[in-house]
Parts: sequence; structure tokens; C-alpha cells
Amino acid sequence: MSDLRVRFAPSPTGYLHIGGARTALFNYLLAQQQHGTYVLRIEDTDVARSTQESVDAILNAMDWLGLSCDEGPFYQSDRFDLYRQKVQQLLDEGKAYRCYCTQEELDAKREAALQEGRKPKYDGTCRHRSDQPDAPYVVRFKLPEGQGATTFVDKIKGPITFQHDELDDLIIQRTDGTPTYNFVVVVDDAEMGMTLIIRGDDHVNNTPRQILLYEALGYPVPEFAHVPMILGSDKKRLSKRHGATSVMAYQEMGFLPEALVNYLARLGWSHGDEEIFSMSDLIEKFSLDHVGRAAGVFNPEKLLWLNSHYIKSGDPARLAELLQPFLAAKGVSTTAGPDLVEVVKSLQERAATLVEMADGAAFYFAELIEYDEKAKNKFLSNDQRELFEILLEQLNGCERFDEESLEKAFAVIMEKTGLKFGKVAQPLRVALTGGTASPSIYQVLEVLGKEESLKRITQALGALV
Ligand code: GLU
Repeated sequence: MSDLRVRFAPSPTGYLHIGGARTALFNYLLAQQQHGTYVLRIEDTDVARSTQESVDAILNAMDWLGLSCDEGPFYQSDRFDLYRQKVQQLLDEGKAYRCYCTQEELDAKREAALQEGRKPKYDGTCRHRSDQPDAPYVVRFKLPEGQGATTFVDKIKGPITFQHDELDDLIIQRTDGTPTYNFVVVVDDAEMGMTLIIRGDDHVNNTPRQILLYEALGYPVPEFAHVPMILGSDKKRLSKRHGATSVMAYQEMGFLPEALVNYLARLGWSHGDEEIFSMSDLIEKFSLDHVGRAAGVFNPEKLLWLNSHYIKSGDPARLAELLQPFLAAKGVSTTAGPDLVEVVKSLQERAATLVEMADGAAFYFAELIEYDEKAKNKFLSNDQRELFEILLEQLNGCERFDEESLEKAFAVIMEKTGLKFGKVAQPLRVALTGGTASPSIYQVLEVLGKEESLKRITQALGALV
């Protein structure tokens, strides 16, 4: 075990966003690589916005991606006593104070500051107050006095400095007694022994405040790495306008977790010009040194390309299992009919997603073929009667229904009918599948098997028009 301790700390106010998934992935990869510890912490202090449904959705998505944690999930809502104690510590040490300013007063001060062209920040009215009126209050963290600055060296962005006069006396506890994000995140990251914080760069501005809080609470300050955000093709922050942003929406669209993991890792990180990385490649090769400083642009075509790569090269038995729910959703039952693993093998080269694979697989399990109207008109006319009769006869005579004997049977059929391969295969394809696009005709025959193939040809003979 190394000393590295990292965490992913989602707020359960919605599904797991692909940006969050990438942050989780980077944390997971480094912990795996360095034999460190990856902690999952659910930041549910915002009781009004946090839901169990979101917690479940996030855990489910993490699970699907294969990002299992070494410790956790911990819930901040279980830790309110600790936070209260730490707020009290700062109050006792004079590093925090009660602020009784009302919202109206704060709004007025803000308005005045804006009018006078000053930066609207809390003016410190309650900083030196010694009375304790019986009125609602928030607790504010007292920023160090004077013209100081806080600098940290971000492991992705390099050195970052914030002048203290840019900052505000931060609220660490609300009037209802609940602690705020910037405070609890520090208490937890410190108490949980985090050594490196990898998170989205929307939190960069919080970091100097958090560093000051670490120092005030007497905690060691961890290292930080802020990951650039993900943009849509129009260079605006990725949102639903650009397509799905939820991890599980990709599962529903028939993506494989390894494709999404590969894609997210490459979005902002590179390793020479390699594109294909399994999880274990990533664990071996990932490094924050090669995470770029610029935002990554989400490219759905590339994700689709990776997905078809993983479908092509995937284990057919596993794909068959993953395909089942997609078939069920289409009302396709696989209890009877060909072996699903063989079906998958015939479609791996052709389907970019499991949804496409389910579409392509449905014909194998049809009780009765429904012909595509155009295909039927073109290929199931009475002129084909002789061809279908010969097909029936020759295929019936085929001992084994494998590629070799099917090829031989086809040679005879082509000779007897005087037709080229395509002129035989295409009407047969319509008879067997209902349409004009399918895996190779030999594969279809082989997977369907002799009995079912002959049944379908007979059905087509009866349907000739
Ligand atoms: N709960 C915060 C968020 O979801 C975590 C920020 C952090 O990693 O510090 O944005």
C-alpha cells in the first residue's frame, strides 16, 4: 500500500454526469496504480436537494463503470456532529465568528458596493462584535488579516495564487445550523486522510479558501489537481443540448462500460497516439502529467467508434448476456430459437451498440417472418418460385449446416439456376430475415439451423406474389 489517498465526492442531486465519472475514473486509476486508497464520499449536506434516488443512481453508475471504491461510501449526513464540533473549535479559537447580519442588510451592502464600484464582499461588520444577540446567525470563517496571498501548485494547472483581499469571510454554518460545502469538504478530506484532491476545475476558486481552512483547523494541506471541464462541439460547457450527459443514458443506448471508460480517459489525457486502452492499460499508463490544461471536447462519434471496437472484440458470451435486456425491451424472447451466443457472433462486426445489435438480432427469434414491404416486392415475386424450390431441395439435402457444406450447396444451386451468388443470396436473405441487410447468408443459415431455415423458405414460397 502506498500513502496515496484520493476520493470522489459527488453531491447526490442528480444522476452521475460524465464529467463526474471522468473525475472518479482519474482518482480510481491513480489509486490502483500506486496501490493507494480510493474513497467514495456522498456529499449530502444539502438536505433539500439530496435524494436517495440520486445516491442509488450514482452508485449504480460507478458500479457499471467498474470503479469500485476501497473505502465507503461515506455519507456526510452521518457526520454532522463532527462538523459542529469543528465549527465550535474555530469559534473557540477566535478563527470564526457569529454573523447576525440579515439578508436585507447584506443585500443593501452589496447594492452599495456595486454602486460605488467596489467588489461586493462581506464587509466584516460582525467580525469584532462581542455581544451575542438572541437572533439567527451564520458562522463565518475569519480570513487572515492583511494583504496576504495563498498559492498552491496545482498538479495539472501549475502554480495558482489568490490574493486574500479577493476573498470573503466565508460562511461555514448556515442559520439552520447546517455546515456549508467548503467547510465540510475540508473537515472530511482531512479527517479521511486525503493526500491528493482530484476534482473538476469548477472548484479551483474554492481551493484557496479551503487551504486557509485546513490551516486554521491545524490540518496538513493535501495536493490538488483540477481537471479541465468537458465542452460540447460548440465549445460551450457540455450540457443536455449536446446529447446525453448521464453515464447511465449511455448504458441505455447500448454502450459498453469499457468503451465509456476508454473514451473518458482519453478525453483530456493522452499517451502518445494510442487510442485503445483497457482498464488495466489505463491503470498502468495513466498519469496526471499527461492530462492537458485545455478543456476536452466531447466527441460522440469517437465514443461510438470505440464502442464498435469493443463490440467487435468482445467476448460473445458476455455480450449475449448484456444483450438480453435490450432484446427483452423489444419484446424478443430468446427462450426458443438459436443460441444467442452464435447470434451475437454473427452480429459483432455489424453493430456499433447493443441497441443496434438487438435490432439486428430480432429476426433470428421471430416466430413468423414479417417482410419489409419494399424487399418483398422486389425479391419475393412469382419469378422466384423455381429458385426457392431449388433452394429448399438443395438445402434439405445438406447434411451439415456449416459454411463448407453450404458453400457446396450454393455452387449447385447457382449452377442449376444459372444465377450469380447475389441473385440467390438476396431473395433468400429476404426469406430468412424479412429484409435486405443481415450478416452473411452462410452465417444466417448456420445460426438459424436447417429446420428453421427450411421453414422460413417454405413460408416465403407461400408468400410469393
Ligand atoms: N460535492 C462536490 C461536487 O460534487 C465535490 C467537490 C470536491 O470534489 O471537492 O461538486
